[in-house]
Amino acid sequence: MDHEDQDCPDNIFKRVSEHTVNYFARFGLYAVKILAVAALGTVKGLKLVFSELLGFLSFVFKGIRWFWHGMTESIRLRTKRNKELYNNVRKSKKRGKAAHAGAVTRFAGSFLFGEDGILYTVFNYTMPIISVAFFVGIIRYGSSLEYGIAVDFNGKEIGIINAEADFEKAEREVQQRIAYNENDKTIDLSANFSLKIISDNDKLMSSDQLANKMLEASDEKLTEAWGIYIDGKFIAAVEDKDQIQKALSDRLLNYHVDGEVRDLSYKNKIEYTQGIYLQDSVMEEKPAIEMLTSSTEKKGVYIAQTGDTTVSVCQKYNMSLDDFKKLNPYNSDMTLKGGQVINILETESYLPIQYVKEFETLSFLDYETVEYETSSLNVGVKTILVKGMPGEKVSNTEITYVDGIERSRKTVKSVVTKEPVIEQIGIGTYSARPDPNCRPVTGSGEMGWPIDGGWISDTFISDRNHKGLDIAANEGTDIYAAADGVVISAGWNSGGYGYMVQIDHLNGYQTIYGHMSAVFATENQTVTRGQLIGAVGNTGNSNGAHCHFEVRYMGVCYDPELFLNTVDGTNEEDPDG
Ligand SMILES: [Zn+2]
Repeated sequence: MDHEDQDCPDNIFKRVSEHTVNYFARFGLYAVKILAVAALGTVKGLKLVFSELLGFLSFVFKGIRWFWHGMTESIRLRTKRNKELYNNVRKSKKRGKAAHAGAVTRFAGSFLFGEDGILYTVFNYTMPIISVAFFVGIIRYGSSLEYGIAVDFNGKEIGIINAEADFEKAEREVQQRIAYNENDKTIDLSANFSLKIISDNDKLMSSDQLANKMLEASDEKLTEAWGIYIDGKFIAAVEDKDQIQKALSDRLLNYHVDGEVRDLSYKNKIEYTQGIYLQDSVMEEKPAIEMLTSSTEKKGVYIAQTGDTTVSVCQKYNMSLDDFKKLNPYNSDMTLKGGQVINILETESYLPIQYVKEFETLSFLDYETVEYETSSLNVGVKTILVKGMPGEKVSNTEITYVDGIERSRKTVKSVVTKEPVIEQIGIGTYSARPDPNCRPVTGSGEMGWPIDGGWISDTFISDRNHKGLDIAANEGTDIYAAADGVVISAGWNSGGYGYMVQIDHLNGYQTIYGHMSAVFATENQTVTRGQLIGAVGNTGNSNGAHCHFEVRYMGVCYDPELFLNTVDGTNEEDPDG
């Protein structure tokens, strides 16, 4: 315990300041330590990087030195040796002429031919270069050579081909030519192959040429002829192919078709190949032509479709009507029933003839139907407002026939010549009606009942040359426009109508609504059927609340009942028609 300093303010200050200084001093020490560690670390790091770099550089330098040393070693050895030999020569001078000459010879010999001598050194340096050049040369020569496959057949080299696939093709070809034989003749077609460098005198063979060679190498009787191939398949060989070609083109020329056709040709590809063929597969030209132009008839059945007739079926199968009757004795009717089984005769040519015919066909396009609500019709009335019309389409169709029978068809072009007309059906929304006890009115319905309720209190003309229809109702009852139009007059009329509205329906018709208590429409206003235009009243020349309703056509008054219909769903007429 420090008794002296206790409770003394000076001492407390001193202690506090001492502590503070202490702290700062300590902090300073730590800071210096941290800085020192950081500095040390940096130096160590740099040293590490530097030494690594140095190591690497020294490695590179050592490498270069080793290489240089190796490359110049023999030169250095040579120099050293030269020095020794030259010293010998100098020393030998003192030992007489013979010794001197011997030393000179040794020097020259060693200089030229000795180990590390000039020639040896030159050889050492140039050899690798020569080797590389030689090696490159061999590769280039090797890759510039052409190789072929020599075919050994029946112990004899018969030719060189490009690839083994050519042999396989030739093998198939030979087999085809043999297959013609009915006596199941077989030729051993196994061959040996070897790689061969092709010289200028060698020629690569095609598979056709190889096939000929293979046949030649066999022990068969062979002859030079023309092979006839249909769709790549060997059929027979002939000596004179011109006769065959002429007969086939004559058949095309004489082929009869009604109407215009194009692309008249044989369906199959016919080819002729000159070569060596087995004697047995060569045919006389006449029977060959007979075979190629022959046709066979085959019986079959056809299931009749709706709309088929005997004539259409005969056309479909290129049959005569007589044949049809013979094959179908119980079906003498011209019209056939769908699903009926018909016997038919199909003609199959050895070489079918095909052609294309073009047709123009007309087809119809269905029209759409739309329904929409309209106040131009009373509620419950549904009627066609615009009649739908089918459209028309003209199509160009190409039909391919084979031996007169349709085999495929495609549409080349089609043009819509008439767009379909959409059918429009109106659903009535107009709901104004007379009171239930009022007698029904059964006019055209072109105009709507103009009052919300009411009843007929006086008819057109009646006994006093009345120009309209009087509809009685309580004062203030709504009055509606009877049809769409434009208000041409709205307000007070001094001629007896009182408050009135006059509407022009823009189709020659006008309507008038008189004796109103209030007018809601204004002049030039466009109104639709059922729109509120005023209220029932007793103004003007009137006895009791009613609406005087007038219909004029071109200025002449007509009976409004002709245009009104108050019976639900009975108006099915087209109001436009
Ligand atoms: Zn009246």
